[in-house]
Amino acid sequence: MDEIHSIAREHNLVVIEDGAHALGSVYKGKKIGSLSDMTTFSFHPVKPITTGEGGMIVTDNESLYKKLLLFRSHGITRDDSLMNRNDGPWFYQQLDLGYNYRITDIQCALGCSQMKKLDRFLKRRKEIVARYNEAFAGCNNIVTPYQLPETESGWHLYIVQIKKHDRKKVFETLRECGIGVNVHYIPVYMHPYYQEHGYENVHCRNAEEVYSHIISLPLYPGLSIEQQEYVIRTLKDICE
Ligand SMILES: *Cc1c(COP(=O)(O)O)cnc(C)c1O
Repeated sequence: MDEIHSIAREHNLVVIEDGAHALGSVYKGKKIGSLSDMTTFSFHPVKPITTGEGGMIVTDNESLYKKLLLFRSHGITRDDSLMNRNDGPWFYQQLDLGYNYRITDIQCALGCSQMKKLDRFLKRRKEIVARYNEAFAGCNNIVTPYQLPETESGWHLYIVQIKKHDRKKVFETLRECGIGVNVHYIPVYMHPYYQEHGYENVHCRNAEEVYSHIISLPLYPGLSIEQQEYVIRTLKDICE
């Protein structure tokens, strides 16, 4: 983030940070959401907290805040200080081309109650990650995730790399055992949309190398110790 911010300062750019996964994460002592001009969070059901669908943008910049308010609601305002005339109490003006990006009050009520659980959720995720890390510490064909110094991950995902075995086979066996594994992510430029927009000859060696080995293991606050032990035992049995 330091490097991104210094490039942005040099070129006079606004930094919009994608913090979709990162609610509760910390970078050099600062919570994600307090670093950049704007940070977006997702409240999709798989994310740290949920509102069913939807999300949130945070900013401490008043002019960006006002712009976001307009953008959220068809570019329309009733704020006198923004309008160039006012015909009466019914009056409003469209100042920009905006959309309907409003989250509903019902979703927000869910989000407010979820916020109260965030610390507990984060703590549970950390405990589960610590247990996985410990369990796989001695297995050199299961590579555990790396945590950058001076950061505290919110642990949205727990991704291992399977080194000696065929990832697809390991994945299929885990699924057959009833374990909800996944792969995060397919390198974005491999998708047809990007292939058709100039990326057909692009190869990011490291992304492709990592992609060929990764599996995301179950990680969510409601995962019980017994369930996790089953995941650990099953993966170790396959890989050893
Ligand atoms: C989930 C996610 C998104 C999309 O979030 P929506 O709520 O579906 O808009 C964007 N970026 C990242 C990194 C995500 O994980």
